[in-house]
Amino acid sequence: MAGEDRYDPTEREQAFLDTIENPKYDRDIINGLKPFFEDKAPADIAAFYTANELSALVTIRGTERDVEARMPVKLTRHFFEMAQNSEALKRIVKASPDETLNLAGSEDPGYQMDFAPVEGMLHKYEMGLLYAVSTCSAHCRFCYREELISQKDIERQDGTVAKKGLAKIKPVTDYVRAHNRIVAANGGRHPETGREKLREVLLSGGDPMVLPNRKIGQWMAALAEAGVESIRLGTKEMSFYPKRFDDAFLAMLDRFHAAYPDVGFRLMIHFNHPDEFLLKGADGEYLTNANGSLKWHEDTRRAMEGVVSRGWINVENQAPIIKGINDDADALRVMQRALYRVGVGNHYFFCGRDIVAYRAFNVPIERAWQLLNESQKGLSGVETHARLSITHYKGKTEVAAVTNKPIPGVPGTENGVLIFKILRNALDAPDRGKVCIVARNPEAIWFDDYEDRVIFDEAGLYEYTRVDKKRIEVGEALNVAVGS
Ligand code: SF4
Repeated sequence: MAGEDRYDPTEREQAFLDTIENPKYDRDIINGLKPFFEDKAPADIAAFYTANELSALVTIRGTERDVEARMPVKLTRHFFEMAQNSEALKRIVKASPDETLNLAGSEDPGYQMDFAPVEGMLHKYEMGLLYAVSTCSAHCRFCYREELISQKDIERQDGTVAKKGLAKIKPVTDYVRAHNRIVAANGGRHPETGREKLREVLLSGGDPMVLPNRKIGQWMAALAEAGVESIRLGTKEMSFYPKRFDDAFLAMLDRFHAAYPDVGFRLMIHFNHPDEFLLKGADGEYLTNANGSLKWHEDTRRAMEGVVSRGWINVENQAPIIKGINDDADALRVMQRALYRVGVGNHYFFCGRDIVAYRAFNVPIERAWQLLNESQKGLSGVETHARLSITHYKGKTEVAAVTNKPIPGVPGTENGVLIFKILRNALDAPDRGKVCIVARNPEAIWFDDYEDRVIFDEAGLYEYTRVDKKRIEVGEALNVAVGS
């Protein structure tokens, strides 16, 4: 690596990196629709699309409704096999002409680039998020990062237009060090943004588990050396290719823990539906163990046991609620119960974001709240930790309650209200905990759909401005500090 991006590991890092095994993995991936169009997909997988489905997709190929231009198609054999008995799973990865009927949506949902102090890194909240890679083993049609995975040009706040770049170790760790140096010199808070130490970083993408063990290890060790106290890795690989969580990967984690025992590690997994990991019989019912609990696919069971049996690793599931995939209270209940039994926390469920073509995927906000609420009936207290979150520009916002009855004496609430509550707020979280109450709109799938019925907006969800130029200059100032 040349010039300013060259990163030199410390002796401790190098000693750890020298122990990492880098096996090759055969995910048996089908890339794109071309193998289906040209009858070149393996015989059993070829039937994943019917002749009618393929002909409808061919008709719009190369037009503005081309589904692959919006989001590349990708599938692993493991996921294909799991999807044989599950319409929900098919919908996760199968392209459909319906998804480009309405291409309204945001090219940069949440204006994420407003919070990118260095390329490939977001520093919106108290933690940092890295775009470590721009693909996954398979691709979900509803992906929130379709602009990164499709490599679309994004307009930034300063008017420049460019694809979202990937994070590089040197500039990211320089930024972490510079930010933390300024915070430490100022008594624990950044003098401009009010933020505390950057102590937690999420490796994201795309899916970092498509990277070789050595690359993942390089990121983890470099972040640990830069003073990061806790590392998260966001992945759907447990669903797409669970064999990736093999002895070589687990040994890398163990050696990382031995070299950096004070650094926490959390795996943020992504299951939308229990069909992604549970086995079904010929009658379509889930198979059970002797005690009545539900039986996992052996590869996924082994992968999960590998990580949760290491007490220093936390595993949490989070997933959006998507039309035709998991807008099903029973499926959500089964999933929360089955995950918690093996030691996986239920973190967030998300309302769909305003990505391009979001109308094809999003469940109405009030319906999503009702589904999650319904799914949690019959769960124990520890199984019901998940909250429903919708991501506003200001930060992650909980859909906290939906009422059926009016608020006495308050006009406009005749059909009940919905209460949003800010859970996570950009910069030094000035609005955390504040609420916004709107009159119900059962059709609403995004914040805009409540614009004409705001009753009380302490949270300022309907009166906000994007971070100003000054905030961007803070990032630039840090880059200067790095160079100084
Ligand atoms: S695994 Fe995550 S990042 Fe990858 S395509 Fe699916 S939603 Fe997008």
